[in-house]
Amino acid sequence: MIEQAIRIGTFANIPVRIHWSFLLIIAYIVSVGVMDQNSSREILIQICFTMAMFACVVLHEFGHALTARRFGVQTEDIILLPIGGVARLHKLPEKPVQELLIAVMGPVVNLIIAIVILIALWMKYGSDTGAYLETENYEHFSWGIFLPLLMISNILLMVFNLIPAFPMDGGRVLRALLSMKTSRLNATRWATRIGQIICILFIIAGIYFEAWTTILIGIFIFLSASAEYRQVAREAAYKNKTAAALCRKPGLMLTEYISIGEAREMVMQSGQRNFAVMDITGRITGTVSASMIGKAFKENSDVRIKDIMHTPPAVLMGFDEVLHAIQYLEQGIPAILVFDHEQLTGLIDLDSIRAAQELG
Ligand SMILES: [Zn+2]
Repeated sequence: MIEQAIRIGTFANIPVRIHWSFLLIIAYIVSVGVMDQNSSREILIQICFTMAMFACVVLHEFGHALTARRFGVQTEDIILLPIGGVARLHKLPEKPVQELLIAVMGPVVNLIIAIVILIALWMKYGSDTGAYLETENYEHFSWGIFLPLLMISNILLMVFNLIPAFPMDGGRVLRALLSMKTSRLNATRWATRIGQIICILFIIAGIYFEAWTTILIGIFIFLSASAEYRQVAREAAYKNKTAAALCRKPGLMLTEYISIGEAREMVMQSGQRNFAVMDITGRITGTVSASMIGKAFKENSDVRIKDIMHTPPAVLMGFDEVLHAIQYLEQGIPAILVFDHEQLTGLIDLDSIRAAQELG
């Protein structure tokens, strides 16, 4: 989903991308406006307002990204999705207090924008500002309500982002506070649980007050919450572990030119599920799984291993971090081969990961 984002510019060396589905929002505004028989002027103001709102979201993300940079954490890019923005940081900062500041600076930007607008209105209307804000007609879009509405929206954005649940900034603030007392993994676990309880309260309140958006927000945050925990748990489990520590012996190796039928027999007797494949000279050329062989056998038993194997093989050195192997496995690569100098010493597949997890 994130890959379908178009780059709109680079600011402070950070590329800003916009997801194509963002255009759907504009299309939605226009079609609803036309159906409600709003004037083209109103529709134009509403589109400008949406643009201004997303500019505020970008500034919010820069609040995170530029604070992160101060702590030596670079940002891959900032992406605008219809549901909001994401600043993709390269890693989590080391110290909880740094994470706290990075998380807080996004909402702080929205607060600053709201205050600047308030000052601007105050300069124009002086002591009548309160009365002006109250008497304006918010039913229809006009230039008169543009700034007041932008101010209110920034405050709402700030409050919404401070909900203490992942993936909201408030969840990160909570985790950072908890990390000061316990490990990051524990802190993430607690932050996730607290966040999920809050989501359930949101959903209950939404049902009680028949506020459907509240229910949807609750469900959305609830579903996103545990993803953060899984990510941190995985990184903690494999941090500083080398590929050599986790791999198993390569076991049976298959040769490229044998037929699927032959391979099937050999695989069945081996009890193994993933295999390194070599050519006639003994050079390693690919990897193959039992399921790939089984599938190919059903479709066309004439093919050879060479025709179905995954090639070139994914390779790691023994001293590489095992996290790289997991990234490969997630891409659907059957096995990762581990080398020491020129020598194949082991293989990592989902079975070895699972075994390592069971052994603790
Ligand atoms: Zn944020």
